[in-house]
Amino acid sequence: MTPCCCAVVPLEFRMVLPADYHLHTPLCRHAVGEPSELAARAVKLGFGEIGFSDHSPMPRDDFDDWRMRNADLDGYVAAVERARREHPGLVIKLGLEVDYLPGCEDWVRDLAARHPWDYFIGSVHYVSETWAIDNPARLSEWKNREPLEVWTAYFDRLTMAAASGLFDIIGHVDLCKKFCFYPKQDCTPLVTRFLEAAKLHGAAIELNTSGLRKDCKEIYPAPAIVRLAAKLGVPITFGSDAHAPSEVGMDFAEAVRLARSAGYTRYGRYTRRRREEQPL
Ligand code: ZN
Ligand code: FE
Ligand code: FE
Ligand code: ZN
Repeated sequence: MTPCCCAVVPLEFRMVLPADYHLHTPLCRHAVGEPSELAARAVKLGFGEIGFSDHSPMPRDDFDDWRMRNADLDGYVAAVERARREHPGLVIKLGLEVDYLPGCEDWVRDLAARHPWDYFIGSVHYVSETWAIDNPARLSEWKNREPLEVWTAYFDRLTMAAASGLFDIIGHVDLCKKFCFYPKQDCTPLVTRFLEAAKLHGAAIELNTSGLRKDCKEIYPAPAIVRLAAKLGVPITFGSDAHAPSEVGMDFAEAVRLARSAGYTRYGRYTRRRREEQPL
């Protein structure tokens, strides 16, 4: 009798790759590789679906220098459509990674009305009008503050983002760990409050593998947060946060392992901002 092949094939090779929904393009001014090149890489790796979510424009182009300009939004959509035409065998979704800052709500609604988006990832990078906590050029800011103060401000904004109902997915949930400034105090209450808001408002969280490539060397969010999210019934998606073709789908085997070990059996796919559950 021939033994079942599954018994000998490692998990990585049995895994059906979940959609990679966090991909950037050169329009944000700190990524390389046109959408078509990232799509080609995804096809090579065996993906059936990907989605672009480049950094969205702000009302003012001089807000910072690491996102697309307003005049580039139509070109972004056109580049994603070109990738779709050039890779007809791959499902390619149109998304945006949108910064959440208090007061941005009308702007996000305005963006949402402009194109047939499949999903919006709401991300908090800014804990004030001027400080993006993940910006290496502003690392000195961390040294002037208590980690708990920054984590609290960060999770307050993340909770507001989830409760705003403006986003399908909340990005890199514990981005505040990027440079390893960890509070001594227990942050479970902050995280729980955020996850409860996400659950209540139907927002998913992403398992974002880019944390493995940063100082924190850990997927966003940490295993304890993924387990808590599973317990509360918060849906998930997957993202590499690729800023280059070589990063597409990076460490997805590890992300799938983390999701399964936390109890997840499904993840979300989005079409025109409606979620559909997919077996993992
Ligand atoms: Zn980026
Ligand atoms: Fe981000
Ligand atoms: Fe990103
Ligand atoms: Zn990101």
